Amino acid sequence: MDMLIGGKHISSDDLQEVKNPYDGEIIDNIPIAHRQTADLAIKEANDAKEGLVEMSAFKVSNKLFNVCEKLKDNKMDLAQLLTMEVGKPINESLVELDRSIETLKLAAEEAKRIYGESVPLDAGLNGKGFFAFTQRVPLGVVAAITPFNYPLNLTIHKIAPAIACKNTVIIKPPTEAPLTVMKFAEILNEEFPDGVINTVTGYGSEIGDYLVTSPNIDKISFTGSVTTGLMISQKAGMKKVTLELGGNDPLVVLKDADIDKAVRGVINGAFLNAGQVCMGVKRIIVEDEIASEFTRKLVDATDRLVMGNPLDENTTLGTLISEKAAMQVEEAVNNAVNDGANILTGGVRDGAFYEATVIDNVTQDMDLVVNETFGPIAPIIHVNSLDEAIEVANDTEYGLQAGVFTNDYYSAMRCANEIEAGTVFVNKQSTFRTDNMPFGGFKNSGVGKEGIKYAVSEMTKTKLIGLNLR
Ligand code: NAP
Repeated sequence: MDMLIGGKHISSDDLQEVKNPYDGEIIDNIPIAHRQTADLAIKEANDAKEGLVEMSAFKVSNKLFNVCEKLKDNKMDLAQLLTMEVGKPINESLVELDRSIETLKLAAEEAKRIYGESVPLDAGLNGKGFFAFTQRVPLGVVAAITPFNYPLNLTIHKIAPAIACKNTVIIKPPTEAPLTVMKFAEILNEEFPDGVINTVTGYGSEIGDYLVTSPNIDKISFTGSVTTGLMISQKAGMKKVTLELGGNDPLVVLKDADIDKAVRGVINGAFLNAGQVCMGVKRIIVEDEIASEFTRKLVDATDRLVMGNPLDENTTLGTLISEKAAMQVEEAVNNAVNDGANILTGGVRDGAFYEATVIDNVTQDMDLVVNETFGPIAPIIHVNSLDEAIEVANDTEYGLQAGVFTNDYYSAMRCANEIEAGTVFVNKQSTFRTDNMPFGGFKNSGVGKEGIKYAVSEMTKTKLIGLNLR
């Protein structure tokens, strides 16, 4: 599939295969862009700024609603493509499509709510006799750099608010799973003037880096790993930057919890998209008193998952993004076992598949839970008190989301107040998000928030206009 730049299809003499991780088949090729191609995209996006700013909010909103309808019409085709390039079960891809439609709808609504406010300058020294108000002004060109695990919805979380507040966009999709996003860009381009949306494909370390350092881009909106995010924050200069990075989210199960509910939380949180979820459950912190009942029920539920062809609608566990990724998970689990943890179920790799794995007697210093392990793993850490549970939950450099299962409101509020994370859910796992909520982590999990209204705020600048009426 070609890149889309200024409304034209552009290729390259250098191509990269996109393979299905399930069977290794080549799905398509994408161009590896050279710097001149990135320069062309930057020029087209800058040239399109004026036309977009002149468009009324009414029109921008309607156009985003139209894109939404077109996405609905293409839902099944795009879901199948998503499953083929990522390896996630088709039912999960359909959910990603539904969420993408919802995200677009929220942005279409938000396009009509880009408000400023009046500012009482007379509340300041010498301000009497002035009338002042603010406007939210677009930044200009937003570069959206996104990861492989939810390539469509995470990219729409950048494109849709950016356009809602009249920024033009350059997308750098993930090299392993770029196709669904590239197709979406073509759908969006049918509605908006050429140059409003552009795609540039190629390796992040080269072409992504080039976009990050370009003086003609006004904002980098990045979702991906902490390592890449840190590099971007060091190189972006004076640009605005939003960083949505990795997580190592705890699921705390206290002794008075509804155990069945907590088990469902782990199944939906640790194994969704084969564990390749930033807000996935990565550490299960269980009070000792209920650990054996909880563990037994978790193993039973895990064994009911169906690993298989991701396009088969009965499949509940697909592949990882690549065999290499599955091998990294295998190594992390084997190291934990060598250090004293024990596998209760799973633990076997087959190509890019890794079995849903429950691993007990994990300690907080094991690499498996110190690092973000991006695979279908449920590591159990035992604790003896609420204090210890909170201390272990916070013993990480990450702080994306957290989930606590308890029926005691005192314990719930202590966890809510004391766990350092962008979101703490009570009686729900961390792996939950509605597309309107403020989403973004504390600590190394990121800088800034997404969730349409919050992204719009980060993609505009405030201008004050003051009238001297003295
Ligand atoms: P990644 O390796 O950081 O890649 C993300 C994107 O950045 C890709 O498009 C990549 O391009 C590009 N990139 C790589 N190096 C770059 C550089 N030097 N400059 C500019 N761009 C560069 O992350 P990933 O492995 O795809 O995704 C998994 C990570 O994303 C996990 O840590 C996960 O937790 C995190 N994530 C966070 C959220 C959130 O909202 N907080 C959501 C989903 C995922 P290439 O593909 O060409 O390398």
